[in-house]
Order: sequence, then C-alpha cells, then structure tokens
Amino acid sequence: MTASGASGNGHHLPDPGNGHHATASANGHHQAESGNGRVPHPVSGGPIVQLPTAFGDFIAQAWIDLVTGAEHLAVSSPNPPKDGKAPLVRLHSECLTGDVFGSYRCDCGEQLAYALEMIREEGGTLLYLRGQEGRGIGLANKIKAYALQEAGFDTVEANEQLGLPVDARCYKAAAQVLAEMGLHEVRLLSNNPDKQNRLAKAGVKVVEMVPTEVPSRDQNIRYLQTKKDRMEHRLVLDSHVGGAVPVTTPDFDHEQD
Ligand SMILES: [Zn+2]
Repeated sequence: MTASGASGNGHHLPDPGNGHHATASANGHHQAESGNGRVPHPVSGGPIVQLPTAFGDFIAQAWIDLVTGAEHLAVSSPNPPKDGKAPLVRLHSECLTGDVFGSYRCDCGEQLAYALEMIREEGGTLLYLRGQEGRGIGLANKIKAYALQEAGFDTVEANEQLGLPVDARCYKAAAQVLAEMGLHEVRLLSNNPDKQNRLAKAGVKVVEMVPTEVPSRDQNIRYLQTKKDRMEHRLVLDSHVGGAVPVTTPDFDHEQD
C-alpha cells in the first residue's frame, strides 16, 4: 500500500450496520474523505464464495454500486500473485453479445476468456462491470449503433449519430471496489490508456499495463482498427484468425474495451 491508496484509517470499510459506506454527510451528499483528491463512490461488498469455472477455480464477490444500483462481480484467483508482483486486474465492461453469445463483432468474449486465464495463472481479479454495455450506452442503443455501422459508420461515428457519448463509462465505483478489496496498486490488463488515467484519478495506481490483444477477425477488424486509430488503444493488429489482415474490411464493428 502507498500514500496514493486508501487512507488506511478505516473509512473505506463498509459499515456493517447498514451496508452503506460511511461517508454520507448530513445533507446526503458524499464528501471527499481523506484529502487525496479522490471522490469516494460508495459500494457495498457481499460474501465471498467459491466459483469453479471452465477457466479454473476462482472466488467471487458481488459489489453493489450504492449510487447507481448496478451490481458488479469480482472474480479472483484464490491465491495471491507470485513473486510479490502487483495483482493483475481486468475491468471488464459487460457485453452481452460478446460475453454470452461469443459475438465476433467485438473482441469482448475472447478478452474475457484471456483475462480469466491470465488471472488464474498469475493471480489477480477480474471485475465484471455491469451497466456498461456498449461503453455505457446500453444494450438497445448498442444494437442501434450496430445498425448504423452496417450502413457504413464506424463505432465512434455511430454513437455520434445517435447523439450518445463515445464512452459513457464511469470507473469511480470500480476504483472504490478495488480499494476496498485492498488492490491499491495493480497491473492492468487492458489496451486502453484512458482506463489507466481514469483509475489514477480515482486513486488506483496502475504500475503496469499488460496488453490483452487477441487475434482480430474479419468481422471485428474494422472495429479494432477504429479503437486503435480514434481511441488510442494500444493494438498491434498483426495477428488475424483466417490468414493475413485484410486490406478492405467488412462494415462490422462495435464497442467497448
Ligand atoms: Zn463487446
């Protein structure tokens, strides 16, 4: 733990009495609590349970965002990281089409599998963030954006056409969950430098960015290229399922990191 982490004075512990984070002031607003510039975002953790999966044995804990009501899930390796390294952390934004149905319009499902395998091997936590579908615009809007993408817009332009933000996600609750889990310094499994910046603002120190690139596909190469070109994602795009990276690409793409 460092000075950039939690204050260490116990303020971050959930209040066992009512399950609420004990930072609410008399007027109901939540106050900055430790002078480190971090605005707290109250969350409430539940019991830790075993979660045996196809990717290995994990432990899981649900966290409720007490501001939005969103229910997130922390899935962790049962053992701490080896060699005293900082834990691997993946902030995985919910993607129904990718995570559940294995959609190739994006790379979310493959990223999820890759992250769980890495965390099983090296130790750490995947925080599955619900309510972040389509970079925060929701499932129905994401599918609308797909329709626009099929008409030729890229993933950024499609959101703009819908009058929606390109990235509406907020990481304050995620940062608070990490802090309450004692994960103040992390190795972040992500290609998205913006996530690193947002976490830093929320008080979580990213000591290393660990790339999570999975091979591109015909169906998602344009989406990934857009993330690289327009959203500054650190992608190489040099491996491709089904041969060389195509020069002309289909009009499929989508969301998320
Ligand atoms: Zn996705």
